[in-house]
Amino acid sequence: MAGSGEEAATAAVVQNKKVVLRRHVTGFPTEDDMEITVGTTEQRVPAGLTAVLIKNLYLSCDPWMRGRMSKHDDGANPVSASDFVIGEAMVNYGVGKVIDSTHPEFIAGDLVWGMSGWEEYTLVTQPESLHKINHADLPLSYYTGILGMPGLTAYAGFTQVARPNKGDFVFVSAASGAVGQVVGQLAKIAGCYVVGSAGSDEKVSLLKTKFGYDDAFNYKSEIDLSAALKRCLPDGIDIYFDNVGGTTLDAALLHMRHGGRVAVCGMISQYNLEERDGLRNLFCIIPKSIRVEGFNVSRFFHLYARFEEEMAGYIKDRKVAVVEDVVEGIESAPAALIGLFSGKNVGKQLVAIARA
Ligand code: NAP
Repeated sequence: MAGSGEEAATAAVVQNKKVVLRRHVTGFPTEDDMEITVGTTEQRVPAGLTAVLIKNLYLSCDPWMRGRMSKHDDGANPVSASDFVIGEAMVNYGVGKVIDSTHPEFIAGDLVWGMSGWEEYTLVTQPESLHKINHADLPLSYYTGILGMPGLTAYAGFTQVARPNKGDFVFVSAASGAVGQVVGQLAKIAGCYVVGSAGSDEKVSLLKTKFGYDDAFNYKSEIDLSAALKRCLPDGIDIYFDNVGGTTLDAALLHMRHGGRVAVCGMISQYNLEERDGLRNLFCIIPKSIRVEGFNVSRFFHLYARFEEEMAGYIKDRKVAVVEDVVEGIESAPAALIGLFSGKNVGKQLVAIARA
């Protein structure tokens, strides 16, 4: 069904399951903080509205959703996005197919990725935020990860914030995850020596055998993180791509080389803490002239078209590998999201909810 909803007298009404937040969260979130509700959706854009109706195919699970699950005073949400509304579908990036559109840039059948609801069908009232999928010959799920927001985060954070030089010593934390696996592989392409940390022996093995990391360690089984870094990077670190913050960041600061860069992408170790950890080694940035720069991917969406072509090329040329952790069915989404905070996911966590 294409075109304006005004043309059709009636449109099919279909079931629309949603993942909604039951309560605002403090501390570690649980599955019970979310529930599945069942409503209905008319299969067209309501008359008079410029919007796009999407059938969601893949939902992305991303750590930043945690920030939106809490209640903040106006403007205090650290992820610069509004708190999720209790009883409404949660919101995040996803991949979908256009069912109906009254926006001139989209027609029924288009495959898109962008901000959508955690539900089977979403009426997107700001379609400008959607991206058309240009490489539908690759798995569409990649647009939740390596070709979507996490991939762009890795690309922009590494090339624009960390600014690598050939031969740099690079350390990446949460190194097998959605962002980390891309950073490590971009660092190898840039001619760097790359070490990753991850939370299980299985992930450490993946880093070395699948993603080409030169070395890796399981931070959960190391007694002394500083000693692990000294062992894997005896000459120090030029670039630390920080996905976790906390004790890992503190240890990495001690091993930074003169002129080093810390690209602060995320601090997942801190997201569920009521009282956040402090840093003891921050003073190291003075004598070694270290640049510590936080960044949000929203700063870099102007690079998306260039990034998509470059990354799709790497995938097709088998210069980068992709590891996804796919669960089936919208009912699986709450557990999949919660799993990010204990490292249950191996690779990019996503939820497959429908076929194109
Ligand atoms: P991910 O790595 O695929 O999944 C999260 C991983 O974090 C888990 O698998 C786990 O891996 C690790 N983790 C969980 N709790 C931890 C803890 N207490 N201490 C240390 N590690 C912990 O997630 P992602 O999507 O790639 O995101 C990685 C980071 O980038 C997050 O901090 C996220 O917020 C950030 N991010 C930032 C931006 C931005 O614009 N700045 C955009 C996207 C993502 P292990 O098993 O290895 O511990």
